[in-house]
Formats: sequence, C-alpha cells, structure tokens
Amino acid sequence: MYDLIVIGSGPGGYVAAIRAAQLGLKTACIEKTPSLGGTCLNVGCIPSKALLQSSELYWKMQVEGALHGIEFSGLRLNFPQMMQRKEKVIAGFNEGIAGLFKKNKIDRFIGTGQLIDSSTVNVISGPSSQQLKSRHILLATGSEPIQLPFLPFDEKKIVSSTGALSLEKIPKKMIVIGAGIIGVELGSVYKRLGSEVIFVEFLDRICPTLDESLSKELQHSLQKQGLVFHLSSKVISADIAPNQITLKIQMPDQSTQEMSADVILESIGRKPYTKGLGLENVGIIPDTRGFIPINGQFRTTVPQIFAIGDLVDGPMLAHKASEEGIAVAEIIAGQHPHIDYAAIPNVVYTFPEVASVGLTEADAKANNIPVNIGTFPFKANSRARCTAEEEGFVKMIADQKTDRVIGVHIIGPHASELIGECCIAIQKRMTALEIAHTPHAHPTLSEAVMEAALAVHKRALHK
Ligand SMILES: Cc1cc2nc3c(=O)[nH]c(=O)nc-3n(C[C@H](O)[C@H](O)[C@H](O)COP(=O)(O)OP(=O)(O)OC[C@H]3O[C@@H](n4cnc5c(N)ncnc54)[C@H](O)[C@@H]3O)c2cc1C
Repeated sequence: MYDLIVIGSGPGGYVAAIRAAQLGLKTACIEKTPSLGGTCLNVGCIPSKALLQSSELYWKMQVEGALHGIEFSGLRLNFPQMMQRKEKVIAGFNEGIAGLFKKNKIDRFIGTGQLIDSSTVNVISGPSSQQLKSRHILLATGSEPIQLPFLPFDEKKIVSSTGALSLEKIPKKMIVIGAGIIGVELGSVYKRLGSEVIFVEFLDRICPTLDESLSKELQHSLQKQGLVFHLSSKVISADIAPNQITLKIQMPDQSTQEMSADVILESIGRKPYTKGLGLENVGIIPDTRGFIPINGQFRTTVPQIFAIGDLVDGPMLAHKASEEGIAVAEIIAGQHPHIDYAAIPNVVYTFPEVASVGLTEADAKANNIPVNIGTFPFKANSRARCTAEEEGFVKMIADQKTDRVIGVHIIGPHASELIGECCIAIQKRMTALEIAHTPHAHPTLSEAVMEAALAVHKRALHK
C-alpha cells in the first residue's frame, strides 16, 4: 500500500513525487512513456529553449558579429547537429530525474495509469497490467495540443509544437496558426534558421495575455526580424497536397486570401489530457473545457484523489504545475502550504524576451485599482548598451494608495532572469520604493528594474 501514487511524470507529477518522498511518504509514479519529465522536458519548455538558444546564436553571429568588430566567412548551419544537441539536453535531464527517483526511493512504473476505484490504479503496459493500491492518488497527466478539425496533425507537414521541435529539415515557408507564446517562440526559431514565417492570429494582438504595451512592442521587434503577422484573421479551410498546404484565410476586412506553405504549425492552444485515465470509474467529471474540477486543496470530487498542473484550470506553466505538486505532497503530509498565484511569472523566450508577473495595466483598471506606473527603457541602461541589446523596457505598476508593487512587465534582454526579483517583491508585498532603495550592482540589467521603481515616483535617475 502506497501513501501516494502519482500518475504522470511532468513537472507537476515528478516534483510532487520527490516532495512526497522527502516528507517520508511511500510514493510511486506511473508514466506512460519511457521518458520521465512530461511535456515540459520532452516536447515543451526544454527542447524549445535549446533550439531558441542555438538559433539565436546563429542569427546573432550574422546580424551582430560585425557590430562588435567580429568578421568571419563560411558560417554554416548544421541543422541535424543542432537537433542532436537538443536531444542530448533532454536525455541528460531524463536520466537526472530517474536518478532523483532512485535517490528518493520512489517506485517508477512505465505504463498507462488507469483509475479502478478511489484507492486502486491499474498500470497497463502493452498486454500486461498490474494493480497498485494507495491512500492518495495524484492526477498529473497534463495536456495535449488542439488541432483544427480540417487540419489534422501529421507531425511532418502539419505539425503541433511537438512536430515543430523535431523537423527533419528547415521549412522554406512556415505558416504558424496562432501567435501565442508557443507559436512566437517556435516561429522565431525557424525564422532565424532561414524560413519565411507568417502568422495568422484570430485575435487583434499577439500573446494576448501580456500587458498590451509589451504585446505591441514584441510584435514590433519580431516584425523587424522579418516575422509577418496577420491579426484579426481566421483560417477557414485547408487544401492538403503532398508538398504544399494551402490555407484559406478570412482577413480582417472579411475578404478571403489563400496562403501556401510547406509546413503549417498549428499553435492554437492545449487541452487537458485524460485519455485512458479511467475518470469514469471513480465518477470524476471534467468541466466543459476538459479541466478536472478541484477544491482549494487540489482535491477532486473524490477527496483522496488530487489533480494539478495543466489538467486543472489556470495558466499552463511548468512552474505552476510544480508548485501545485509540492503543495499536494505537503497537504497529504499534514502541512498547510499556500501558493501565491499572483506571484507566478510568465515568460516568452523570444528575442527580446518578455517576462511578466502580477496585474497588467488593463487588469488594474478592470479592478478599479488606482495605480502609479513607472517605465524605464533598456536603451538608457549601461549594461544593455555594452551588450548592444537595447530594445525594450521595464514597466512597474504600483498601487497608488500603498505603493505596493502589483505588476511588473519586462521586455528586453534576459527578462526571464530579471523577473525573479519582481516575483519576490510581489510575494513579499514590497513597495516600489523598497525596490528602488535596494542596491543593484552596476552595470547590470537589473538596474533597469530599480530605475522603473524610481520612475513610479517620477525619480528615475537616467531618463
Ligand atoms: C512547446 C512548448 C513549450 C513550453 N514552454 C514552456 C516554458 O518555457 N515554461 C513553462 O513554464 N511552460 C512551458 N510549456 C508548458 C509546460 O510544458 C506545461 O505547462 C507543463 O509541462 C505541465 O506539466 P504537467 O505536469 O501538468 O503535465 P505534463 O508535463 O504534460 O506531463 C504529463 C505526463 O503525464 C503522462 N501521462 C498522461 N496520461 C497518463 C496516464 N494515464 N498514465 C501515465 N502517464 C500519463 C504524459 O505522458 C506526460 O509525461 C511549454 C509547452 C510546450 C508545448
């Protein structure tokens, strides 16, 4: 009899298993694929960031080398080697998680976990199966990409993010349907590698969860890099030929246009994955969007069965899934964890990067919160000038009455790293002045955060 069986080994499931084992719970983790780490490690965060890094390096050598006085000839792209490096990064972490499972004495089962009743899980592996018993069960089976009904994935010409991360050759032309975070990241990769990349987005702006000013700035930067955006436009049908797919697109003026490409990346969102999980055996009913309803303690309608991560409502982010996994393990161990969702950051790993935490300006307005806003451009930051990465700005939003920081939005170099101190500020309910009065090393990009905090009080020193 286990204390906890975790179904799914993504950043929600495997982290929950480790935390449960640390707390002395007898723990098992069931994963249907032979590789641990879930979407994030195998077909998500990690491979996309590996390719973003490789492609950025290639692109920067071409466009920035000469600026720094570096001249060379014969720059050549070895795409298979780039893909192999990405695979190596993944494999290293696959082994790393397996090692952590061993170290923490977590029993690992390879197979599909199927609920039989509130304390029994069947592990199905090919023709064989075995039943495991547990006092608690955690569902962490994640999500899968959504496809248009007339454009089914073949993962070669019509790809989801999974196929886009493993293409055999660089497309001549790629149409990306959906200009959300995953779309703009993968579109950036192939643009930098030489593809013509065109986006078709239903909404009137890219990455619509971002503060509007950053969404506009990002679009402007990506357009400068040659990415093309058709906003307020809708793909209505497709003609799939062996070497080319032609999409019929309804444009903002309601006219229709045809566009063809050798690869179509469908990046229109993800939905919870519950296939084969046996929810019906225990009476758990997903909501209309497929998410599993939970209470404030991550318990489903069957109290000893918990659910987290992409399977439940909220932003589909690896670190959100991990936070929830840790919380479930601690709840089972009798602790009282708390997740501050307002302090969960969101990052777009394009160039420039975008990172945000807390409320946008529009959120504050919608909640009738009077605010003071401070912005600071990277072009006035000495480190950004030294590295020739001057695009973007920091925007800090503080409650007008209390000066409490309620949102920080950064577009610029290493925004993903700069957002860390802002998450702490929001979680610890710090004021803009407290950030402004904290010494920041010179010359660093983090001084832009300090200057934005000063700008909240109209006291920025360098603008
Ligand atoms: C291209 C891409 C890039 C991304 N980049 C980022 C990023 O940079 N940062 C970020 O925070 N998030 C990113 N995400 C989102 C992130 O990957 C997910 O939010 C995260 O993986 C969700 O974690 P999870 O544990 O809920 O589920 P998953 O990671 O999806 O893991 C679920 C696991 O459960 C397994 N499983 C499913 N059903 C069963 C079953 N019945 N039995 C056994 N096993 C089962 C699956 O095989 C899978 O391994 C990205 C996603 C994609 C697609």
